[in-house]
Amino acid sequence: MRHSYLLPDISRAGRIGCTLPELDVPPSEPPPEELMREELGLPEVSEVDLVRYFTALSKLNYGVDTGFYPLGSCTMKYNPKWHEDVARLPGFTELHPHQPEESVQGALELMYRLQEYLTEITGMNATSLVPVAGAHGEVAGLLMVKAYHQARGDKGRKRILLTDSSHGTNPASVAMCGLETGVVASDAKGDLDLNSLDSMMKEEVAALTLTMPSTLGLFDPKIAEIAELVHKRGGLLGGDGANLNALLGRAKFGELGFDYVQLNLHKTFSTPHGGGGPGSGPVCAREELVGFLPAPLVAKSNGKYRLVSPPSSIGKIASFYGNFGVMVKAYAYVRSLGPEELKQISGDAVLNANYLKEKLKPHYFLPYDRTCMHEVVFSGKKQKAKGVGTVDIAKRLLDYGLHPPTVYFPLIVSEALMTEPTETESKETLDRYIAAMEEIARDAVENPEILHNAPQNTPVRRMDEAKAFRQLDLRWEIRDEKQ
Ligand SMILES: *Cc1c(COP(=O)(O)O)cnc(C)c1O
Repeated sequence: MRHSYLLPDISRAGRIGCTLPELDVPPSEPPPEELMREELGLPEVSEVDLVRYFTALSKLNYGVDTGFYPLGSCTMKYNPKWHEDVARLPGFTELHPHQPEESVQGALELMYRLQEYLTEITGMNATSLVPVAGAHGEVAGLLMVKAYHQARGDKGRKRILLTDSSHGTNPASVAMCGLETGVVASDAKGDLDLNSLDSMMKEEVAALTLTMPSTLGLFDPKIAEIAELVHKRGGLLGGDGANLNALLGRAKFGELGFDYVQLNLHKTFSTPHGGGGPGSGPVCAREELVGFLPAPLVAKSNGKYRLVSPPSSIGKIASFYGNFGVMVKAYAYVRSLGPEELKQISGDAVLNANYLKEKLKPHYFLPYDRTCMHEVVFSGKKQKAKGVGTVDIAKRLLDYGLHPPTVYFPLIVSEALMTEPTETESKETLDRYIAAMEEIARDAVENPEILHNAPQNTPVRRMDEAKAFRQLDLRWEIRDEKQ
């Protein structure tokens, strides 16, 4: 009842929120009869009702700007607001993509410099900023892999190996590229199982895609051996770099033996995300793949910047050159921090995750008890044994005003709670989360009903998630009262 002002019943027949002025120009012909509708089905409300409706809706939104958001693998860190101001400068927003190159030298220079920074950060040889999401960067990388093998006349390589902890976009990208997937097992420590890789790394394998650190939040110490094995058998090593927040300024994909990597600027480099906002998933490549990068790249010669296509480019994969506004924010982020502070980011992200790990270890089962990277994956197994599912834990966190971690992923951890605090959270915030999680663990034993019935304090109680997912209901509609 608290939120009754949100219900469709604020509409009253004949009530209006604005009045149009008297027509002072000649009326134009109405559209043809067959295009006219009798009813628009819009709510009929006064202006103040409408303002209250939207203001109330906006207050129901939860985001990084309202609270802690430890959604693992998503890197929901706080992004400095002034980067938005920079991206909004008229000199950037009023450019037209068809302008002649001479008139957009500043924008091209920014892109060129960002290419250079990302190339250096990843230890690669060149970067294409074109892909507009992480998954899009994965597809770009795989198309490059395909083109590379084809150019060498090595036509039988149609399989991409992934791990059993891979992000869902990884197999989807493989399918998008018309390739097939093979899944390499993880070992008991959560690392890639070398024996499994050895037996699967055959001639039909085009590449192994590895997330580094893995979605278990672990850095695989055998990475050099893995890279050597893959390369010796004629394959390439692709990196899913969505977890770069753990490595920033400390370890480089190129030096770890990767041939290419895709980054998520909207995770690591200061663009807020979620809800389908603009993203950017640059792909960075080592020498042998540089010629295949998606076009265009920005090149510099005689002090002038130009858009160029690499010689064997996989071609264009997005309109124009990708999401420029996201590039501006990433550039502002790199420039404002500098090498030392970029390194501090990964240090603090890893420290925060390990702090959560040590504090919550007594209460939740920790399947891989070793130093984690930017995220820690717990299992709700102990609580499950008492009849409390991980979904109950997640829902109960909402009652504390906290966003839950990623749940039931990675798939190889039962009842997974994948928690990524990020570097931007204070110790006080982490302590508040720890206290809530401790209380929830206690309730799982002493008061499980409260967990089964959570959330209690949210505008919407527990939903039928499968139904909500399949039949999204986002539209206000006048419902027939009698039905
Ligand atoms: C987020 C993420 C992706 C996909 O990135 P999108 O920008 O959402 O397409 C891929 N891999 C991992 C490990 C991720 O966390």
